[in-house]
Amino acid sequence: MTEQNEEEMKKCGHCKKPVMKAKKYYRNNKYYCNQNCWRAAKQKVIKDAQEVAAQAAE
Ligand SMILES: [Zn+2]
Repeated sequence: MTEQNEEEMKKCGHCKKPVMKAKKYYRNNKYYCNQNCWRAAKQKVIKDAQEVAAQAAE
């Protein structure tokens, strides 16, 4: 019998890899592998928002 681990495996909000609990990087209600993934995800959000704003302005 195996002991079931209650702890949820968190996935990186950017690359979707499981985030090691010791190294988790928590920002904006999401987990990231590291600062690099957090920055990349943030840039994507900014880019998406700019595209939406550009479309709305047309
Ligand atoms: Zn990641």
